[in-house]
Amino acid sequence: MNKPAGKPAAAVPLDRFAAIVGAKYALRDAVDIAPFLVERREIYQGRAAMVLKPGSTAEVAEILKLANATGTPIVPQGGNTGLSGGQVPLDERAVVVSTVRLDKIREIDLATNSMTCEAGVVLQRAQETARANDRLFPLSLGAEGSCTIGGNLSTNAGGVQALSFGVARDLVLGLEVVLADGRIWGGLRKLKKDNTGYDLRHLFMGAEGTLGIITAAVLKLFPAPRSTETAFVGVPSLKAALALLLIAQARAGANVTSFELMAGLGVQLAVKHSANCRDPLREPHPWYVLIELNSQAREGLRATMEEILAAGTEAGLVRDATIASSTEQAKNFWLIRLILPDAQRGTGGSIAHDVSVPVAAVPDFIEEASATVSARVPGIRPLPFGHLGDGNVHLAFCKPDGMDKAAFLARTDEVNGIVYELAGKYRGSISAEHGIGAMKRKLMPKVKDPVELELMRALKRTLDPNGILNPGKVL
Ligand SMILES: Cc1cc2nc3c(=O)[nH]c(=O)nc-3n(C[C@H](O)[C@H](O)[C@H](O)COP(=O)(O)OP(=O)(O)OC[C@H]3O[C@@H](n4cnc5c(N)ncnc54)[C@H](O)[C@@H]3O)c2cc1C
Repeated sequence: MNKPAGKPAAAVPLDRFAAIVGAKYALRDAVDIAPFLVERREIYQGRAAMVLKPGSTAEVAEILKLANATGTPIVPQGGNTGLSGGQVPLDERAVVVSTVRLDKIREIDLATNSMTCEAGVVLQRAQETARANDRLFPLSLGAEGSCTIGGNLSTNAGGVQALSFGVARDLVLGLEVVLADGRIWGGLRKLKKDNTGYDLRHLFMGAEGTLGIITAAVLKLFPAPRSTETAFVGVPSLKAALALLLIAQARAGANVTSFELMAGLGVQLAVKHSANCRDPLREPHPWYVLIELNSQAREGLRATMEEILAAGTEAGLVRDATIASSTEQAKNFWLIRLILPDAQRGTGGSIAHDVSVPVAAVPDFIEEASATVSARVPGIRPLPFGHLGDGNVHLAFCKPDGMDKAAFLARTDEVNGIVYELAGKYRGSISAEHGIGAMKRKLMPKVKDPVELELMRALKRTLDPNGILNPGKVL
């Protein structure tokens, strides 16, 4: 459905595209475009005719107008940190539209608690700008030093504070989007309440660049926390981790901003992977959780964290725990958690999944998936970690020691099949926060209600009738 039916593909008008942004920002040389064709997991090797770096919304609009008229596939790309291959161009006629130059923070409105950012603003810069204004922009994830606001919204990123603040789509008041035919939707509203018909923002967020190019967004800001407490906790089992989450939420409510799970193997790998990581606890434990509390109150949060850990210990849920005594120590706790995706590589190969199940089902899901996959691939090492408080499990499986890497990776589909079938059994999702991209597209008919899928296809046909926007992704 992504190609104009029956028409031969027209030549890509490279010079006309280049004229829109200027020669300096139109890359055609193979060496120059190479970094835009690969992603960090090296699963996809992309192909593209050129890379354009527009400097304004108007330039994006001109690019899409021309692409629509000539049937040129367009692949939006932000920080290129996506983990589903959505940002990789897979057609030699494709033109990558990099948002790297759309990097202005257009406005901070402290009375409205909002910040208007262009799509190419790097997440960390948005966070720092909020902090410099005594505000919080709570979206936070391991790739925050390079991923962009446009990419975050287009993938509807989750991250480590979704438990308390919601996912990316919950953090947006307004959007500016360029449509496939080059029209600009100027939806940069700052309203909390606006019931004037369909809420179109949510079509573009999570659409992974298949319905339009987001060029700017009005983001919600929150009061900066006045106190933070971070604990690193060894727990005996998954069920204990879940029970501890309930205790934490009962005592601290929405102040529990993160509740992250790590398998013992993950902490070992993180410590081995980075000289900056130290295991904060004296002895190894089968499971760990990282709990973070944030509050507007200047005092009392430490006592709340201590109460949570004391109640957990009394109930046999906590084997050992330490509360960070400095920001540096808290950073070390977080480093262990955030380095885990990279630390997996130290095992010589892993098959990773980003799934979600209802929070209450996380222990059973992880146990059943680990046991089933281990029975099928003897010696495989399950490495579950993730955002337990959101029911979002990053369930990786590391290569058995001594097994050939290629032979191991050849079993990817088989392992995926087990994990995704179990996610369905537990009424979960095959993509919690990384999106569908190119990676999970073929699974959509298996996991989506046929009516839902047809509605999605109808939206795609309506908004992008010539199928130029990120073809081969999502649908
Ligand atoms: C170490 C690490 C940790 C991560 N942790 C998390 C995590 O905790 N939670 C999480 O959700 N993700 C996580 N990710 C995945 C990734 O960082 C997010 O998906 C991020 O939101 C992608 O942003 P990006 O700017 O890099 O987008 P890209 O990778 O460039 O693009 C991602 C998708 O969005 C589209 N896109 C990009 N910009 C636009 C735009 N302006 N308009 C329309 N479409 C656009 C692309 O076409 C593509 O489909 C992690 C990745 C890494 C490498």
